[in-house]
Amino acid sequence: MTDRPIARTAPIAPAAGSTIQPAIQPAIQPAVDPFGRAITYLRVSVTDRCDFRCVYCMSEDMAFLPKAEILSLEEIDRVCSAFIDLGVRKLRLTGGEPLVRKNVMSLIRSLGRHLSAGTLDELTLTTNGSQLVRHAEDLAAAGVRRINVSLDTLDPNKFRAITGWGRLDGVLDGLAAAKRAGLSVKINCVALKGVNDDEFHRLVEWCGGEGFDLVFIEVMPMGEIGADARLDQYLPLSMVRASLAERWTLEESDYRTGGPARYAVCRETGGRVGFITPMTHNFCESCNRVRLTCTGTLYLCLGQEDAADLRAPLRRSDEDADLVAAIREAVSRKPKGHDFVIDRRRRGPAVPRHMSVTGG
Ligand code: SAM
Ligand code: SF4
Repeated sequence: MTDRPIARTAPIAPAAGSTIQPAIQPAIQPAVDPFGRAITYLRVSVTDRCDFRCVYCMSEDMAFLPKAEILSLEEIDRVCSAFIDLGVRKLRLTGGEPLVRKNVMSLIRSLGRHLSAGTLDELTLTTNGSQLVRHAEDLAAAGVRRINVSLDTLDPNKFRAITGWGRLDGVLDGLAAAKRAGLSVKINCVALKGVNDDEFHRLVEWCGGEGFDLVFIEVMPMGEIGADARLDQYLPLSMVRASLAERWTLEESDYRTGGPARYAVCRETGGRVGFITPMTHNFCESCNRVRLTCTGTLYLCLGQEDAADLRAPLRRSDEDADLVAAIREAVSRKPKGHDFVIDRRRRGPAVPRHMSVTGG
């Protein structure tokens, strides 16, 4: 499989506003799970590789997948397009680091045709920001309107310690480029006890000043990263929120982006502050998401092992009938929810695969 650029099949027009309501009905019967949840949001990990080694995400000696196992850009485009035909309205590219995949911009431009056609509401990505300087303008031109950028600290030394070998300056330059390109930015910050818990006020202030939304994430037990490391890192967001409330007035908001974050507006900065709490609150009832790995495995739930192989039906035929049938069969098995627990009796991770494999 090659990583050659994908030929553009339709002119790219600016994306419509990112309402999550379907404007155009899917061509075929939408995929609905056994609990009546329509699958409208697909997250796609376009690569398992990354230029960082964040402590909570990867071990230092990560083994990456052989190229033959990885879907080509054309194959990713085909699977995404099949999902869009089945009613997916929001597509998030993630990884690994999506922007380190060779020619990924050609995939993004190609997927932008669904925005122009009105069959997709939003095309977005989650990135560590290291390559944004190069790509911000192209992303905007392809129809991307919002991006999530992961940033756990504003301290350059701490940044390097958390990310393995990331450079804070490079990410800050990338964020400036994103702003210039007109992209809305949401900062993802994993709350880590004893690591960045002294910076939460500063992050609220800084994001408010920059016009970025800020979302705190609880560290999740995914992938083997070393004994007890995660127990030591885990910080419930209820505590983060309580500590923020000492300085900021957080007013509840019903703002939603189609993801699991619950938002408040910070009265002093005017910025939105969100919380993703997989550990302390189960947000599964309204789950509209499935996740595709770069090898074509479809995970029905971030916190469960149940999965379906889409690569075999994809490669079996140029027609999409088998692929669509495999997607429907998988969605019919979507579990009700996850059961993440971090406790001392359970030594290993709840889910053995790393976040960089499934895509956060
Ligand atoms: N490389 C990109 C990035 O860092 O934004 C995209 C992939 S990364 C796996 C997606 C998100 O997952 C990041 O915001 C990261 O902080 C988060 N993440 C990774 N491992 C996590 C874990 N064990 N618990 C909670 N969040 C995690
Ligand atoms: Fe890479 Fe993102 Fe994982 Fe950090 S969180 S190691 S940037 S994939």
